[in-house]
Amino acid sequence: MNSREQVSQLLNSSKFCSYLEITGTVYPGGTRVPCCKASGSDIGSIPVSSISYQQYQHSDVIDSIRNDLAQRNSQSYCRACIAAENQGLASDRTNNNQNWLRYLDQTDQWNEFVQLVNTKQQGPWHWMLFLDNTCQARCVMCDSSFSTAIEQEYKKLNLPASFMTKIQPQKQADATEIQQTLEDIKSSAHNIKMIQLLGGEPTLQKPCYDILQWLIENKHSENIAIKINTNGINLSQNWLSMAQYFKSWQWTFSIDATGDLNTWIRYPTRWDTLTENINKARASGSTVIAKTTIHAMNVHFLPELWSWAQQQNLYWMYHFVEDPQDISVSVLTPAQRKQLIEKYNQYPEFVLSHGADIIKFVSSMPDRDPEPLLNFIQTLTPHRPGPFDQVNPYFTGLNK
Ligand code: SF4
Repeated sequence: MNSREQVSQLLNSSKFCSYLEITGTVYPGGTRVPCCKASGSDIGSIPVSSISYQQYQHSDVIDSIRNDLAQRNSQSYCRACIAAENQGLASDRTNNNQNWLRYLDQTDQWNEFVQLVNTKQQGPWHWMLFLDNTCQARCVMCDSSFSTAIEQEYKKLNLPASFMTKIQPQKQADATEIQQTLEDIKSSAHNIKMIQLLGGEPTLQKPCYDILQWLIENKHSENIAIKINTNGINLSQNWLSMAQYFKSWQWTFSIDATGDLNTWIRYPTRWDTLTENINKARASGSTVIAKTTIHAMNVHFLPELWSWAQQQNLYWMYHFVEDPQDISVSVLTPAQRKQLIEKYNQYPEFVLSHGADIIKFVSSMPDRDPEPLLNFIQTLTPHRPGPFDQVNPYFTGLNK
């Protein structure tokens, strides 16, 4: 079998996750984690400065995750990916594996990939960085690990018990760990194919800006693809103008609904500013995509969001919220689930493209008590633009 066949087989198998093998992921405060699913898991926090990327790749933590994935253990760290895949849906794992397959098809670096996976001798091809939790938004599915605004607001509120996990112990940026991460990136810069900057809000984080500037000044940028998640509240020209120096640049806008419902869910995002910033990002030559977290508070309005994304010629991606479960689609009442199907059926094109999968997923979820979510909505309401059922009538009569 040649390298191309070997790698294709690997990336299409149910046992291989490219996040585990070729990605260096750093969480807020500077800890190494296996992938972006580490929130709420019990894998422990390992400071970047205490273990190198290569050592982490060979650590017991990663080995046991690899083993659990290979055995498709549905109770393990990889449970969210395994659950989605068991239902025939794409997961973060399968999406990422397929992205690398496309990359390798374009670049013909099959041998290098095999060598990297087998030896782990070089630095990662891919860095996924959640450098700190600076963020001005208070999105309902987020927590204080990823938003300083949530940290400030929620501490003053009397949250339902199951939402208290949203106030995690502070994970402020640790200067030593961030410095170490930046040094790791600099020392592996010749090997890097992609850097992903994720939340908090990367455009507010100076270390993110500084490392991109360093890559430009040191002539590495033209070999590196950049992907940045943003809430779209504020995109400065400084950030937009960097795109031209990199191999490619993708802005992923977090959008959960159109108009005022998005403002309520991802407060204080404004729809007019968000759409203006999408246009600016496109004008800078970047690829722009819309990514949606699906949960009980927006699931009825996905057809409108998808139609808007179609009109804008925006690629649309989604994933389901798992944590806290009290905001997930599990809490939808039988009446809300019925209304969901009736609503989606008014949008046959949406049903064909994504809606049928979403209905299948929602229908497969066990019932969960909606009361904690309704209390959470009531607790937030005085601090949001108005009652939630004004922007989501499917909650009329529920959140009283
Ligand atoms: S949770 Fe998913 S993306 Fe993360 S390591 Fe496991 S399979 Fe990979």
